[in-house]
Amino acid sequence: MTVLKVTNLSLKHGQHYVFQNINFELNQNDFLCIVGPNGSGKTTLLKCLLGEIKPNTGKVIFDNHQSQHIGYLPQSQVNNPIFPASVYEIVASGTLNQIGLFAPYPKQKIASILKTLHIDDFAKRQYNTLSGGQRQRVLLARALAASEGLLILDEPSNNLDYSSRQDFYATLKKLNKTTTIIMVTHDLDHKNLLGNKILSLDPKHAFFGDTNEYVRRIHAH
Ligand code: ADP
Repeated sequence: MTVLKVTNLSLKHGQHYVFQNINFELNQNDFLCIVGPNGSGKTTLLKCLLGEIKPNTGKVIFDNHQSQHIGYLPQSQVNNPIFPASVYEIVASGTLNQIGLFAPYPKQKIASILKTLHIDDFAKRQYNTLSGGQRQRVLLARALAASEGLLILDEPSNNLDYSSRQDFYATLKKLNKTTTIIMVTHDLDHKNLLGNKILSLDPKHAFFGDTNEYVRRIHAH
């Protein structure tokens, strides 16, 4: 089932195109990695998908999703102290878009997310006392709490050490069984090529398609 269809998407800042004529389509349970050098428009594209920036041309059409039901994990939040709050409170805050300010938290949904991401053991701890890897899992959990089947992640492994990164990727693989994922990444280590699809915004290697085909083309260069 199609989840998202992007057609002829172009965006300009002033006279300069950030990107031009982007086309791609995602199905349920696809895992798309968006790659490209710094400044190639990856974050700007995510903001277009989220409806925060209006493109100059083209369309972003979600099937079955409203943009408020997308779980979004922006760049470099790990070291942000946020505010004095427990892990539980942070994850629960992700559900506010669905339930409104004064309704009770959906306890079962939150409990299941805490368990899936292995953060239930420290649900009562203050966020500020956690390690970088633990913090990132909490922020992922909050995004998951906000989502109904679609996660958008902007360089989520940036501030993580090697082992936390492997751990985080294993969690994403697990989540991908029930969730469509779009992730901007610089991590092109082939062992870590997670997704089944790649969108490259690199002007020299523009590409959208299967990850295996992308790897073949890169090796052929
Ligand atoms: P990436 O995520 O691939 O590093 P960005 O999407 O952050 O790239 O930026 C793409 C280009 O758009 C860059 O050249 C950047 O300087 C430019 N840009 C981003 N936001 C703005 C803005 N608000 N006004 C003008 N130029 C911008």
